[in-house]
Amino acid sequence: MLRSALGSPHEFVITYELVPGQGCCGKKVERLLDLAREVKADGRISALSITDNPGGSAALAPAAIGAELLQLGIEPLIHFSLKDKNRSQIVSHLYLYQRLGLRSLLVMGGDFPKPGYYGQARPVFDLDSIQTLQLMRDMETGRHPGCALSLEQPQRRLFKGCVVSPFKATEAEQVWQYAQLLRKAAAGADFIISQLGFELGRFEELITFVRRRGLSQPVLANVFIPSLPVARAMAAGKVPGVLLPPELLARMEQEAAQGRSQVRLERAAAMIVRLRRMGFQGVHLGGNGLSCSDLRTVLDQVEVFDAAAELPDLAVDFPLQGAWTFCRREAGRLEERPIQPGRKPGAVRIRALSHRLMFDQQLLTGRLFAHFCRFCAQGRRRTAALTLLERAVKRLLFSCRMCGDCTLARSAFLCPQAGCPKRLVNGPCGGSRFGFCEVHPDRRCFWVRVYERLDPQTTVSSLAALPPLPPKDWALEKTSFWVNWFTGRLRQGN
Ligand code: SF4
Repeated sequence: MLRSALGSPHEFVITYELVPGQGCCGKKVERLLDLAREVKADGRISALSITDNPGGSAALAPAAIGAELLQLGIEPLIHFSLKDKNRSQIVSHLYLYQRLGLRSLLVMGGDFPKPGYYGQARPVFDLDSIQTLQLMRDMETGRHPGCALSLEQPQRRLFKGCVVSPFKATEAEQVWQYAQLLRKAAAGADFIISQLGFELGRFEELITFVRRRGLSQPVLANVFIPSLPVARAMAAGKVPGVLLPPELLARMEQEAAQGRSQVRLERAAAMIVRLRRMGFQGVHLGGNGLSCSDLRTVLDQVEVFDAAAELPDLAVDFPLQGAWTFCRREAGRLEERPIQPGRKPGAVRIRALSHRLMFDQQLLTGRLFAHFCRFCAQGRRRTAALTLLERAVKRLLFSCRMCGDCTLARSAFLCPQAGCPKRLVNGPCGGSRFGFCEVHPDRRCFWVRVYERLDPQTTVSSLAALPPLPPKDWALEKTSFWVNWFTGRLRQGN
């Protein structure tokens, strides 16, 4: 079991990522299952993870392959991607996984959906990964009547993983990633898998961060073995959230020209040994087009390197030049760099003051505004007029979408409904590159802009300590937030 393997201090856990394609059968599915059989026979890989509509394109659902892996006696680790599921689908998939005996899930937002049948699929992102982890915990404990398991059913606790990227190139993105990691851990994540990357120093930062912050969750480092075409695509920014340094691509081009492409397997093995010595509890292997024989070569080589007194002289560390790093080395020890949020505050102060004047019930203005809104809420015409006023003011100031459940005060008075294509209210996804948005690469990530407006005293811990906003109530869409707030239709948390 993945849970027990990761819980054992003596085991170094290896998982491998399977990527189902389109269609329910055929050669691709057969190849996956053949590989699974060989992996089972080899016995060194603890679990096979299965992607969920990877890259935002429709593919065979992971539960199908997962159920077959169970029959083969291999533990599946299901990628539980939230881009295509609303909260009902999330709950119903959790029931499905429990029913099928699929116990280990890797919870993630996922890549923005790609065009499919008659064009672009509607992006869902109804819950983010923090909210989903909380929902899963609530289901397990039966705390929420809307989603608790029926008491007649046996309570099966799922083994829940989360993802973090230590490979971000800018301060804002990296600080958010670590703050989000702390929030995911607090929301109930049982283990952590990193984004894939090629820089050892960043892996070291991650494991150091996890240890120093007292997180008890085991961490798997994501070791990806790209083919040359995939490396080219990654270097060109075609894979969301992945930064492949040009030096690595140049080396791979050279190796390919010399007919030595298989060096990539040796490089992965050397990296795995280094990550193990760094303190990771395991690695999550991935790579397109790898055969089981390739995987065996990597794992054999790991054993050889492990047994050797010295590691081979093989370049495995490819830092991204000019990128901001979370730590710096002082007297041989990694120390967190000071951070500088709030460098471009814009009109945040004046907006915060207006917000206070309108909503703080300790102030006369706040009480008057509350009375006014409650008065308007008593008649349909008055409500309509107030809604119109709110729409006009907030559209002008914030490009407001009238979601009726305003969270402006939690994102430095920038509107996530208008500014973030995934409409994330609790912080960024992992898809940004060099501070720019995964979905609109010509625009800066919304949450990078928020970071630039934060209070300069903000720290990773203070960001992490913000209670996550609960899921949006879609019944409030297009209604007046002012009315909703003062008539108690909203949770207190905005
Ligand atoms: S704005 Fe940032 S958080 Fe939103 S989709 Fe783009 S990269 Fe992700």
